[in-house]
Formats: sequence, C-alpha cells, structure tokens
Amino acid sequence: MEERDYDVIVVGAGPAGSLTAREAASRDLRVLLIDRSLEIGIPDKCGEFIPSLEEMRRLAPRAEDLEALFDPPGWCILNRTSRVRFSFPGGFEVSIPFKGVVVERKLYDKYLAVEAARAGAELMPNAKAIALTGRGILLKHSGNLSEVSARVVVAADGAYSLMARRGGLPVPRDPYDYAVGYQHEMVDVDQDSSTIEMYFGEHYAPGTYAWIIPKGRDIANVGVGARTPYMKPGLGIRDYFDRFVKQHPEASERLRKAKSTAVKVGFIPVSGPLKRTYGADILAVGDAAGQTIPSVGGGIPPALICGRIAGWAIAQHLLEGQTLRLYEEEWRRQLGETLENSLRIRRMTDLLLSSDRRFNLAVKMGLVNEETVMKVVLCHIDAKMKLIEGTLLRVLKR
Ligand SMILES: Cc1cc2nc3c(=O)[nH]c(=O)nc-3n(C[C@H](O)[C@H](O)[C@H](O)COP(=O)(O)OP(=O)(O)OC[C@H]3O[C@@H](n4cnc5c(N)ncnc54)[C@H](O)[C@@H]3O)c2cc1C
Repeated sequence: MEERDYDVIVVGAGPAGSLTAREAASRDLRVLLIDRSLEIGIPDKCGEFIPSLEEMRRLAPRAEDLEALFDPPGWCILNRTSRVRFSFPGGFEVSIPFKGVVVERKLYDKYLAVEAARAGAELMPNAKAIALTGRGILLKHSGNLSEVSARVVVAADGAYSLMARRGGLPVPRDPYDYAVGYQHEMVDVDQDSSTIEMYFGEHYAPGTYAWIIPKGRDIANVGVGARTPYMKPGLGIRDYFDRFVKQHPEASERLRKAKSTAVKVGFIPVSGPLKRTYGADILAVGDAAGQTIPSVGGGIPPALICGRIAGWAIAQHLLEGQTLRLYEEEWRRQLGETLENSLRIRRMTDLLLSSDRRFNLAVKMGLVNEETVMKVVLCHIDAKMKLIEGTLLRVLKR
C-alpha cells in the first residue's frame, strides 16, 4: 500500500474531533488532530450545558458505556443544575427536574484534546484545512501551505463543514436547517443557579428559544437562538438579543444589572444528521455530520458519543478491513432513534414557534404541560406524543 504521512487526519479539535482522535490513537493508529485556532478551545461558542450521566441514560438509552463519556473532570465544571424551567408566551411556565453540569468549554475542549494527545495523537493548533486533495488535505499552518496525506480524513470541523462538503457528503444548505445562536456571558445576573431557563416567543427567539444558563452564583450564559426564515425582515440576531435582555417581561428584570464579559456566536445544525456520514476515505462527525439534538440544539453529547464510535470504526476499517459504513451503522444503532425523535419533535414545535397565537392555542388545548415537556426534553415519542403530533398537524398546518 502507498505510504501516507498518517493513518488518520482529524480536522477540528472540538469534542467530536478529539474523541475520534483519542479512540483511533489508542488503537495504535498514527493520528494527526488539527485545529485552525491558535489555542484549542478558544474561542468557544456554547451555552456549556451538558446533561448528567443519569439524564443521558434516559435521553440515549441505546448508547453504550456512557459513564466513560459523561464524567467531566471537576475542574472543568463551574456549576451543577437540577431543573429546567420553560417560559412560554403569555406567561405560561413549566418546570421539570433535569440534572446537568455547566462546564467551562475552553477548559473542557482543551482537556479532551490533551486526552487525545496522551493516547498518542499528534496535535497541531493554528493549522487550517483548506481543501481535500484525494490523498489527504491541503493545510495552512502558521502561514505555510503544505499537503499532508492520510488514509482517512475526518470532518470534525463543525456546522456547515467545509471538509464534509468537499468530500461529497450531503451537507444541508437550506437556512431553515440551521439556527444561529448569539450569546453573552454576563455577570450580576439575578438567577437561581440550580435552574436552566428557556424562554420561547416569536418576539425574542423566532424558530428556537432564548436561554439563561447559570455558570455560577451571578454569572450566566445569556443567549438567543433564531432561524432566519422565522425572523422579521430588517431584524438581525443582535436585535432579538437586545429585545430579550431589555424587553422580556421576566428576563429583563433578571438582567437589569447584568454586564457582558464575552460575546459568542455560532451556527447550530437543526435538521438531523446528514443522510450519509461517510465516504470511501472520509467520515463526518459531530456538528459536521449534523449530529445535534435538533429540538434543543445540544451538540456536545452526540459529538462525544459519535466521536468515540468514529475512532473505533476507523480502526476497524484500517486494521480489520471493514468498510467505513460500519461507523454510520453503529452511531445510528446507538443514537439514531434519539436524533430522529428529536427531529420529529422539532417539526412539531416548528408549528408552534412560528406564532405566539399558535402556542397559546396549544396551551389552551392542554398539549403543553409538564408531562409533554419532559418527553420533548428526553426525545420520547410514545402513543400520546403521536396523538399530539397528529392534532398539531391537523389543527395548525392549515
Ligand atoms: C451559541 C451556542 C450555544 C450552544 N450551547 C450548547 C449547550 O449548552 N450544550 C450543548 O450540548 N451544545 C451547545 N451548542 C452546540 C455545541 O457547541 C456544538 O454542537 C458542539 O461544539 C459540537 O462539537 P463539534 O466537535 O462537532 O464541533 P465544534 O465544537 O464546532 O468544533 C469544530 C472545530 O473545528 C475547527 N475548525 C473548523 N474549520 C476548520 C478548518 N478548516 N481547519 C481546521 N480546524 C477547523 C474549529 O476551530 C473548532 O475547534 C451551542 C452552540 C452555539 C452556537
């Protein structure tokens, strides 16, 4: 076989890339993990919330060995939360028990990359993948262009992945399939630090929701999400953020004294995983593969689960002669149902998110309550949820 510089090049050292690199390197493959950032983990763009192991077992019941993935080191954890409170248009509220941690992503992402390095992966920050060459990638490192060859390239370069697109994978291009998240880290926030808050309403977060995620006593990630087809012409994401902070009847009170310490912005794929996440010598993982939980935009858990599967499958491919299809079969087996259910739920909520009037109608019809919200959060679709789905489609899609 033709000699290549590496067995695997992983483009992007977020959670998906670092887990892929760690798993592949731990099986004695020669792995290069690159990231365009000068320092891995910076800048981060995230609400930094990760469900607890207990919740992950309910959210992804088929995913294996979750205890090894959902145990971030204590020094990355800034806060532990036990509830999520949903605030709907018109003042209607639902609060559910749901445990999780808020991590410092800068520390957490670097920790995951360090673990990959300790497993044997070579790390290269300040290295941007420019193109696929057929034998590997064209790379710009500290200003210099070079070609690096590998037997498998992993697209772990985040939402609307350049590598996945260049590799011929079916990355969605429709703005409807992405949310933009705009967030400030703020101090002097009046909050209950044990509760994540999610606010809905077309006036503040068209097509998704706004959030206050407590990072500590009075520090929080305060953000709004929006999907462009739902936004009013002439308004940008910052306008919605300003509205949320200054005009939301409850949030504006909590944020009255708050000051920003950081601004973060990024895209989140919300249309479910790519139809195909592998090619002959490429695979996509994490946001690059659309592996987020579409109903809430959470992408860290799928990135960890699918990254680990990706590294294992690459080893099966290179060492045992299996095809890369194994990767897709395995992640779909472990996580496919959760992500599919979540997409179905997102489509249901789309019918409500397009107007507050519809939301109020659904509340009056008794469709939005503690039980249904819990099922939405856990991506559970049972007979009752199917009935609600049918009702929403019948009543609202007219
Ligand atoms: C505002 C906001 C809030 C969010 N809040 C949460 C939350 O609270 N909880 C949650 O679970 N998820 C949240 N998400 C989603 C979450 O951040 C992502 O799903 C998660 O980071 C996906 O991990 P990843 O490894 O696939 O990609 P990323 O973390 O995006 O990592 C991709 C990496 O690739 C690198 N890269 C990109 N292009 C290149 C290139 N050409 N060459 C080299 N390197 C490249 C980037 O520098 C980056 O480090 C949020 C997203 C946003 C935008």
